[in-house]
Amino acid sequence: MNPKTHIETRCVQGGWQPKNGDPLVLPIFQSTTFKYDSADYMGRLFDFDATGHFYTRLSNPTLECVERKLADLEGGAGALLTASGQAATFYAVLNICEAGSHVVSSTAIYGGTFNLFAVTMQKMGIDFTFVDPSASDEELAKAFRPTTKLFFVETLSNPSLKVADLERLARMAHAHGVPLIVDNTFPTPILCRPLEWGADIVIHSTTKYMDGHAQSMGGGLIDGGTFDWTNGRFPSLCEPDPSYHGLVYTEKFGSLAYLAKARAQLLRDIGAVQSPFSAYILNLGLETLPLRMHQHGRNALAVARHLEAHPAILSVQYPGLESNPFHALAKKYLPDGACGVISFRMKAGREAAVRFMDGLKLAAIVTHVADARTSVLHPAGTTHRQLTDEQLAASGITPDLIRFSVGIEHIDDILADIDQALEAI
Ligand SMILES: *Cc1c(COP(=O)(O)O)cnc(C)c1O
Repeated sequence: MNPKTHIETRCVQGGWQPKNGDPLVLPIFQSTTFKYDSADYMGRLFDFDATGHFYTRLSNPTLECVERKLADLEGGAGALLTASGQAATFYAVLNICEAGSHVVSSTAIYGGTFNLFAVTMQKMGIDFTFVDPSASDEELAKAFRPTTKLFFVETLSNPSLKVADLERLARMAHAHGVPLIVDNTFPTPILCRPLEWGADIVIHSTTKYMDGHAQSMGGGLIDGGTFDWTNGRFPSLCEPDPSYHGLVYTEKFGSLAYLAKARAQLLRDIGAVQSPFSAYILNLGLETLPLRMHQHGRNALAVARHLEAHPAILSVQYPGLESNPFHALAKKYLPDGACGVISFRMKAGREAAVRFMDGLKLAAIVTHVADARTSVLHPAGTTHRQLTDEQLAASGITPDLIRFSVGIEHIDDILADIDQALEAI
């Protein structure tokens, strides 16, 4: 859409743009395949010399519309939807790595991402160095090697809620000839657009705020289209691909080489594609995303302030609070709110944390965050259960930590629920 239109308008009107007599609402093209009149045309589709869809594992009209909207919202050149956020992360890294490659990753990342990197991808021969994103430039520089292919961070980390200094980290990545890949799941493009701060690739778990109603799994990969893949570090993008009859991605697709390769190789070979129905649900969520993100942010700030003043609470982590060490970065990168997720520690420790959660009536205990309903989770006992104590400490998680995902219900009802549960312990 016209980039001059406001993001609220693009959330509603972007992607599907009906022509005369078309359905007003994005249709679900629930078809695995697409019919053509000539074998020759289909052959040209396989060569990327003609446009059109041929098999939903590679592309589908419903997905294409939602991908266009995602790219538009993040300010990217193109996007690709995946079956889940995990698949998006895997593709984002594997697309430019192979056995022998090295990745620099923030320690402040989602537990599932940490396992994917430190266990599964490590087994594939890809080496990872984990760094504290708040470390000095000199410290960070030590992590990079000649084989490093990318720097991976989360804008606002799940669940430790550290704000990444995107501008500085992008500068650091570029000084070492690699892209900055940012998981922007928590802020969504409503609250922060990492590409505007120098990031090169953005990924999402669309399962969270974007869907917003805890209904469909999904992920997204957005290519800023500005990184120079011909700098000598990325031969897989600039040399002939034998699995695609000698295609050279940078020559054929120019600024969209990275995205084209992810589609042509990874969707083709691994196939973690989003279903058209899930993409339709995601699109509905995107239409109301700005309204929800602002309400999440307002409610979360109110809950954070309330907890900070409560005698049973040891500390509250929410970058929207003035007392938070990331407040200055939040003011810069998240001026319109720091999303709905907060975490806090109970003075009385792990037992009290569990009893508090059991006492909540409105907030649901779920393995999920970032949707319309207020929910609560104990990271050390669930999402981060597989991590050792040292790994837990590195990702900022203590046994008494509670992750509270503030929903869009009325703030008075959320606070009343918290108070009655705190009183009961
Ligand atoms: C949930 C989450 C993921 C993984 O996404 P799924 O859709 O659950 O596969 C990745 N990154 C962050 C920050 C998340 O919160």
